[in-house]
Amino acid sequence: MKEPFFKTAAELAALGKENIPDAFRLDTHLIYNSPAALDFNSPGAQGYGVKRAGLSVPDSVMLLIAPRSCGRNTSGLAAGDTERFGWLLMDETDIVTGRHLKKIPEAVRAFVESREKQPSVVMLCITCVDALLGTDMERVCRRAEEAVGIPVRPCYMYALTRDSKKPPMAYVRETVYSLLRPRKKNPRAVNLMGYFAPLSDDSELYEVLKGFGLKYIRELGRCKTVDEYHELSEANFNLLLSADARDAAAMLEKKLAIPSVEITRLYEIDKIGSQYKSLARVLGADYKEPSMKNEAEMAVAELLAITPKPVFAIGSRLNANAFELSLALVRYGAEVAEIYGDPQPQDFSYIRRLAEISPDTRIYSNLSPTMAVYDEEKSPVTVAVGRDAVYYHENAVHVPWSDETQPFGFSAVRDFCRAVISACEGKEQEKQPSKVSLGEKIVSSHEIHGLRLAIAPFAPDTSGAAAVLFPLDALTVIVDAGGCAGNICGFDEPRWDVKSFAKRSTVFSAGLRDMDAIMGRDDRLMEKLALAADEVDASFAALIGTPVPAVIGTDYRALVRLIEKRLQLPAVAVDTDGTKLYDEGASKTWETLMKTFATAGEPCDAVGVIGVTPLDFSSEEAENIRKSIDGDVLLYGWDGELSNIKRAGRVKKNYVASASGLRAAKYLEKKFGVPYEILCPLSAVEKSAVSEASEQGGRMLVIHEPVRAEAFRKALAEAGAAEVTVGTWFTPVRELSRDGDVHFKEEAQFARFVEQGGFSCVIADAALRKAAPRYIGVWLDVPHFAVSGER
Ligand code: SF4
Repeated sequence: MKEPFFKTAAELAALGKENIPDAFRLDTHLIYNSPAALDFNSPGAQGYGVKRAGLSVPDSVMLLIAPRSCGRNTSGLAAGDTERFGWLLMDETDIVTGRHLKKIPEAVRAFVESREKQPSVVMLCITCVDALLGTDMERVCRRAEEAVGIPVRPCYMYALTRDSKKPPMAYVRETVYSLLRPRKKNPRAVNLMGYFAPLSDDSELYEVLKGFGLKYIRELGRCKTVDEYHELSEANFNLLLSADARDAAAMLEKKLAIPSVEITRLYEIDKIGSQYKSLARVLGADYKEPSMKNEAEMAVAELLAITPKPVFAIGSRLNANAFELSLALVRYGAEVAEIYGDPQPQDFSYIRRLAEISPDTRIYSNLSPTMAVYDEEKSPVTVAVGRDAVYYHENAVHVPWSDETQPFGFSAVRDFCRAVISACEGKEQEKQPSKVSLGEKIVSSHEIHGLRLAIAPFAPDTSGAAAVLFPLDALTVIVDAGGCAGNICGFDEPRWDVKSFAKRSTVFSAGLRDMDAIMGRDDRLMEKLALAADEVDASFAALIGTPVPAVIGTDYRALVRLIEKRLQLPAVAVDTDGTKLYDEGASKTWETLMKTFATAGEPCDAVGVIGVTPLDFSSEEAENIRKSIDGDVLLYGWDGELSNIKRAGRVKKNYVASASGLRAAKYLEKKFGVPYEILCPLSAVEKSAVSEASEQGGRMLVIHEPVRAEAFRKALAEAGAAEVTVGTWFTPVRELSRDGDVHFKEEAQFARFVEQGGFSCVIADAALRKAAPRYIGVWLDVPHFAVSGER
């Protein structure tokens, strides 16, 4: 039986920081892409990644210059408040020639003009593609600045450089402070740096600093206006609360002569006190112990009184250093059985002390491929802390401890203990609001190819491919630097919550770094694949392409041959590049799977359905399709059996539920003589939209993927509608198209068609409405996950 990799605290301490095992090193293996690894794989996917962090300056806006796969998660950021984002979507020519660069000044001008209120700064966010193209962003920003007359700054999202001396998150911290100008210093002013969100209002740090004579305690996360932002320049010193902001602090010291002092977030009460005393000494001030210390001590005592005594798993996706928090808990007398984290040399001071008092605590890597076989049943853990630990411990008490508002000091200890106590008592934790807001009305009128000012990117081809492969027992590798995998599995794949899917699915990121891409190091990818193949049971290997291999021209055929030879495993590759839409990626994948695995032979009595993925259907809708067909129904892909796909050439008939299944169905008909039929029953919500629309009367416009749109058209006609036009953003299906139907490619074209088409009723995802604000008819919302990410 395969086991997940771990080291005990004692073993790790004995190895020392010079001999950290490879499984904890990120460049030696594929990255397991479960939700537990999401923050690593795609720091932009949730919380404060580059995209949100870049908007920390009040009234700033961001233009994302990227293949659609890089911007797909934007609608999920900031609770769906996307008004501060615009997107210049790159096509397949842009990503290899860099021709998009010429459009940037014009796109920035159209973006700025589309906002009701003039932004304070435009952030231009670029991706791995421009990293590989060697784009001089400083120059691009200067040209854009000339076009709009307001500051334009670069934000680098490229995950390829995550392990470099200055990774994207360090850059963005510099960028958001870079607009500050020298001002007269105020000896009573200090800035707190390190987090994008503010500290908890009741952190005693404010009281401690006031006790030191500091009157103005400022944080970027509390600045509501540009004037408040510029007051940050008055600080006498910056107090660094996280090492992540060291580069930004150094930049401010150089540029504005603001020195910095660093302290860190701790959960050991005695160490918190010592740290405040040291700070007082550095500042030449007197320190008076805050009353919050007592509250923290009392909360710890209450935590230790919980019965039965909790056994903790501490993850890394939380507001703490996993090793320091574990050490603090063990020192208080609690039991920590497991830690999820990838120890860095600087963590060894905690690990060594932990090894002395809790030598058997197991330290797992979230990112190791072996975590795909982690089994909760074998663990004694009863309380899981951190989003990653929660993922592995479905049956434990959950304490995510990852709110955006940052806990700090004694109050963090108190609040942490209270959170654990409440969770153990079964009380819900209060959710912190998390929203970036600007809220201008968007007016979208431009003719720039690929520019989106209102509609966030739809699901890309990479997500379409991954959605087809996810339930299959494949060793699936997204050939990317981490961010694409995070976008796909964190945003476009909802089935992690369904145990039967999550158990089976082993999706990895190749974890490419800049030198892998520049040198085309396929051999390293092969080594990683071979290691992962030893750890998971997979029927075949599947590669999903992303923008990085598209830019460097990866030879997938050669890779497939290599995999088959070295791993003795069938392999397929889908050459998606992140610039196209999900239907194309799904379609390629269905076709590839059928061509590779479907076989002739004894006819079987079942019927098959091609084209069902969560990008088009909810679980309920998928099951409705099954119920609407008589007999033994194989929902290829959804049912998760490669053996079903193997039978696809021998079934009585194949049904096509979305346009993405059509090419594969045609192949199966031609090759094996299996007939196909298009079939897409409408859901209850959709049927009620049909009755509402038919009551409305007049000209109707249905916007969806082609098969579903056609199902609407038929249902509307049956309900008596006289004139129904179909529009789609996805690849049209010739046999379903009628005169007057339209294929949308650009936002402005879409806006004109909807606003000026004389439609009395539009049936479409509500997210599209933003792009046609002057449309005055009825809009019936039919959510389409591939469009809005909403169900
Ligand atoms: S890792 Fe993928 S999503 Fe992230 S910037 Fe690179 S290409 Fe885009």
